[in-house]
Amino acid sequence: MSAPNKSYDPVEVEALKPDEIDRVRDEALAAFAAATDLDALREAKVAHVGDRSPLALANREIGALPPKARAEAGKRVGRARGAVNKALAARQAELEAERDERVLVEEAVDVTLPHDRLPSGARHPLTTLSERIEDIFVAMGYEVAEGPEVEAEWFNFDALNIDPDHPARSTHDTLFVEGPEPGADSQVVLRTQTSPVQIRAMLERTPPIYVICPGRVYRSDELDATHSPVFHQVELLAIDEGLTMSDLKGTMDHMVRSLFGEGVHTRLRPHYFPFTEPSAEMDMLCFRCRGESVGHPDRPCRTCSSEGWVELGGCGVVNPRVLVACGVDPEKYSGFAFGFGIERLLMFRHNVADMRDMIEGDVRFTRPFGMEI
Ligand SMILES: [Zn+2]
Repeated sequence: MSAPNKSYDPVEVEALKPDEIDRVRDEALAAFAAATDLDALREAKVAHVGDRSPLALANREIGALPPKARAEAGKRVGRARGAVNKALAARQAELEAERDERVLVEEAVDVTLPHDRLPSGARHPLTTLSERIEDIFVAMGYEVAEGPEVEAEWFNFDALNIDPDHPARSTHDTLFVEGPEPGADSQVVLRTQTSPVQIRAMLERTPPIYVICPGRVYRSDELDATHSPVFHQVELLAIDEGLTMSDLKGTMDHMVRSLFGEGVHTRLRPHYFPFTEPSAEMDMLCFRCRGESVGHPDRPCRTCSSEGWVELGGCGVVNPRVLVACGVDPEKYSGFAFGFGIERLLMFRHNVADMRDMIEGDVRFTRPFGMEI
């Protein structure tokens, strides 16, 4: 900045005197050298190279000089600015190199450090087994269907041919949810089975229908080694022309072979369900002893209690009344349904003795099943 100049002499402008130019140049060089990081250098740059810096102001004064003095002053200022810019660029390069070196050291990744200090979780075997069953049916052309867990009583019971005072209704030990209209004919319940999804599937689709319905279901049971108030079911439903019990058996034989190995097959025992007619309980040949423990007390089998067969679930040909409730013509179509619990299947497939192990969420239980995907 030019000094106050009372008697202005255009040849003797203070800011353009050689000593003054050298002084502001040296000041700039010293400021750059003193800058220890790029931020400080940026500030020094504004002060000594910016529009309001002494050298920039001096440069503007040149125009005020008489023509013959301009060349000399221009050279002086130009040399000084050149030296300042050069020093700035050099210091900038130095500080950038320093920063890069520091970043390399500070942000280095030590590839020899242990990578697994945070323990990884594991997918729950109920999930992986359920997905494996879904895959088996999807490969046969089935579609995975889902529905709400809080369900209208009509879907959970009435549409399935279970009358309000039907004994089957009480055996379900239903958990009721307060519905929008207390006292209304159809209450709201936590679904006791995944069958309401079958009803929804029939209402939403037109035959042929091939769906598998996996999901969580609820009963008012106490939690113990073999019961849980929340458990998982898989149900399948097939509606087509001419389907019979033998189609159901063939389908389930394929499923147990896929899950337990060649040679394992199923058998049917007569049973009763309101939503199927005829109905049956389905057993599968014990996959561990293949029935050879029967009559051989010296070779007992824990999986089937030496009975040779393991109970799998309930099944049957869909009751025509259920088809009618869902708008399906029973004269034209027939179908079969099957339902079983995933927990039970997991228990005998993997020798899990206590159901509580499955719901406690302890990763030590889950991890031995591996990352089955
Ligand atoms: Zn056995």
